[in-house]
Amino acid sequence: MSTIELQNLTKAFDKLIAVNNVSLKVEENEVLCLLGPSGCGKTTTLRMVAGLEVATSGDILIGNNNVNNLDTRDRNLAMAFQFYALYPSLSVAENLANPLHAENLSDEQIKKKIFEVADILQLKDIINRKPHQLAEGEKQRVAVGRAIIRDPQCFLFDEPLSRLDVQLREQMRGQIKEVLSDLKKATVIVTHDQLEALTMATKIAVMRDGLIEQISSPHDIFAKPNNTFVAGFIGTPQMNILDCKIIEINSSIMKINILGQEVKIDFKTPLDVNTNDSYFIGIRPRSFEIVDNNESDNFSGTIDLIENMGSEILVHIKINESTFRAVLSRSHRLNIGNTINLKPKEGQVHLFNKDGKVIRDE
Ligand code: ATP
Repeated sequence: MSTIELQNLTKAFDKLIAVNNVSLKVEENEVLCLLGPSGCGKTTTLRMVAGLEVATSGDILIGNNNVNNLDTRDRNLAMAFQFYALYPSLSVAENLANPLHAENLSDEQIKKKIFEVADILQLKDIINRKPHQLAEGEKQRVAVGRAIIRDPQCFLFDEPLSRLDVQLREQMRGQIKEVLSDLKKATVIVTHDQLEALTMATKIAVMRDGLIEQISSPHDIFAKPNNTFVAGFIGTPQMNILDCKIIEINSSIMKINILGQEVKIDFKTPLDVNTNDSYFIGIRPRSFEIVDNNESDNFSGTIDLIENMGSEILVHIKINESTFRAVLSRSHRLNIGNTINLKPKEGQVHLFNKDGKVIRDE
């Protein structure tokens, strides 16, 4: 069984709790991305799974077996880390073959495996080259090839694409996702790149200060963030999170004071909130649409700045000395100083209490 399970896993470096009581399970076929800002504990978590760091407390189960006391080499994992160290004097084929030496395979079997991996990762044309004759993307593919050439129980990747340029990253994201979905093993990938997580993961765990803030599918992490941290961390440009006060509740429709204006929002289902209480409202920049006339219950502001985003523009809108941002089509022909009336798209408004926790009808 290829599964990875962490039970109340904690790692302290003296007084610093780098990983704080983390519990999660990665099933066979699942690719879990640990995502979060620098220093949140992603790599330490991965290193504990790999056996490169000893947990302060908690349990690590691989294939339902507790591996707390097993050395790295006895955990039957394959790892590819950010700083892929290929042997400089060995060819691509020899680098690929290296992890197989402990496996007691015949030369024929080793050749067959190299051929299979080279085929999957398109390394056949460069199979006899040495690392110094390879481009970064090719080196990265060899490193991934070395990780998958054995038949380990699980895969661990730490920032596997961080050294590649934007174009190569995009290509490799797709390629690695395909390779992983064929391998059907529990996989953990550490990344601070949300696009990487959203495209490669079947499940994302967002971490902050050693804690897991939310574990969900990529879709739910984006569409149903549990709190203002996840809401602000996922999605570019960042979600607008604004102070607000509820003025009137009429079933699912609420009149809300946002930036001093009264805005009417239909949440589609009644929510457990109170009039006159303060909340945070979250609206992504792409969740606005322009309305012609201000019907008094939409946003009405002045355009403060327009940033070019190619076919779209990022518009900074000022209302009563506060600013929020909307991504709009370039075809609107907007100018700085214009008045703009906007309303949020249906079902795309998030409400959070003052502790930052989402308010939903579940
Ligand atoms: P990054 O994306 O920058 O790699 P991360 O989320 O992977 O960050 P970790 O490397 O796991 O974060 O580090 C978590 C915290 O633990 C950080 O505050 C870091 O400084 C600290 N830390 C990590 N390793 C050690 C160590 N060996 N000794 C002391 N503190 C450490």
